[in-house]
Amino acid sequence: MTLGGISRDTPPRIDAEADVVIIGAGACGLVAALRAKAAGADVLVLERDASPSGSTSMSSGFVPAPATRFQRAIGVEDDTPELFEADLLAKSKGKSDKRLARLASRTIGPALEWLADAHGLDWIVLDDFLYPGHSRHRMHAVPEKTGAALLARLLTAVEQADIPVVTDAPVTKLFADTDNRITAVEISRPDGHTETLGCKALILACNGYGGNRELVARHIPEIAEGMYYGHEGNKGDAILWGEALGAELKHLSGYQGHGSLAHPHGILISWALMMEGGIQVNLEGRRFSNEHGGYSEQAVHVLGQPDGVAWDIYDARIHAFALGFPDYAEAVKAGAIREASDVSGLAKVTGLPEAALAETLGDIARYQSGEADDPFSRDFTGKPGLAPPYYAVKVTGALFHTQGGLMIDDEARVLDRAGKPFPNLFAGGGAACGVSGPEVSGYLSGNGLLTAIAFGYLAGSFCQV
Ligand SMILES: Cc1cc2nc3c(=O)[nH]c(=O)nc-3n(C[C@H](O)[C@H](O)[C@H](O)COP(=O)(O)OP(=O)(O)OC[C@H]3O[C@@H](n4cnc5c(N)ncnc54)[C@H](O)[C@@H]3O)c2cc1C
Repeated sequence: MTLGGISRDTPPRIDAEADVVIIGAGACGLVAALRAKAAGADVLVLERDASPSGSTSMSSGFVPAPATRFQRAIGVEDDTPELFEADLLAKSKGKSDKRLARLASRTIGPALEWLADAHGLDWIVLDDFLYPGHSRHRMHAVPEKTGAALLARLLTAVEQADIPVVTDAPVTKLFADTDNRITAVEISRPDGHTETLGCKALILACNGYGGNRELVARHIPEIAEGMYYGHEGNKGDAILWGEALGAELKHLSGYQGHGSLAHPHGILISWALMMEGGIQVNLEGRRFSNEHGGYSEQAVHVLGQPDGVAWDIYDARIHAFALGFPDYAEAVKAGAIREASDVSGLAKVTGLPEAALAETLGDIARYQSGEADDPFSRDFTGKPGLAPPYYAVKVTGALFHTQGGLMIDDEARVLDRAGKPFPNLFAGGGAACGVSGPEVSGYLSGNGLLTAIAFGYLAGSFCQV
């Protein structure tokens, strides 16, 4: 009998088998694969798409990690994981799972160093601006500074390690015995035939449920009307299987939103624009929030404005800085960015009311000079004021990925509702409960790849059963 994608029957046949089967070829699955292979396991990665991409390749590829040698090399003082753990908890107002926050903050540094040592991944540290909530420069990226390049490097490492990645292989069923031991998985091939693959351990690395509108409406109604900007193939399979198996699920209402997606172009506009002095105004030309609260919760603030849109307003200095981000350069090429020599021109190219716009810019000049305080409590004094020529881009809010999921122990084993680990089931990345707590505002920049890489690293390290 099959219920919720779980069959309690003995598999009818086994077409192939591996010690460790991994579902999903994003950052979590590929790091887990490299680690399991290094421990001597025979590993097989199954990916639903014809070519692996996942949310990982759509991401900016920025991974926060404390106390790494890459930080030390450029003089960043961030010597212990405790400060990062404290930043994680501060952003979620203490609501993220404390054990997982501790686990992630302690695992991610060693994981990045291992990927460099064992597989030649070069990490640079972004030290030219701080994301909201990070008290040190600890964003690591591959030199190209894109998620696509990160995924490409991981795929190359997996290929060099001789780990097979089977594509066009959506897993549609898990076989579990009465002790909840996973014995095999079934994949459905594009021509409709199915194959059954036996395993000694299974790692769920198939992300969350952002691509499943029904689950989003059920768990996160506040963003149900917003655009989903993550990988469409992430349909919540891990969560649905976990539910059917009796796994503990936590913080399903948590997610990463983003309040600055160029509209209608659908291109990410880095939050660095806001951190450097930019502002967001609504169609009435008025600010509506503290832009330094965080880009995740800003998704909800932007969607709450007339027509669910806002304009990012900034200047030539910030424009020049932003050109260093590949996404921004793409937005320029796509014609999303408007330019004007003065406020009147800015009103014309954006269609915003000139008087209100002039008033808003006048207000922030006073906040910047210290003459007045921002009613939204943003501190404008640390950065130069905005000066003509001005730049603007119309943006909307979007759901990037979900943050709730399967509870895991310190070895990334999935836990049942009584807190007992399943015999051979592991999870990481968006499939597992993250470290952002139950609210959108709990997402500290980088929490996505943090748990994809850290928990993937743990799952791969401990999955020899
Ligand atoms: C635009 C954008 C920017 C972002 N920027 C950042 C950033 O800079 N830093 C950061 O930390 N996070 C960022 N994130 C979040 C980050 O991308 C994700 O948290 C992370 O990539 C999750 O990794 P993963 O391996 O769990 O999932 P994914 O990379 O999504 O991989 C999951 C894979 O599983 C496959 N799959 C799903 N179901 C099945 C199935 N049933 N059978 C087989 N395969 C299946 C999918 O096709 C997919 O390839 C960003 C997200 C977006 C959308």
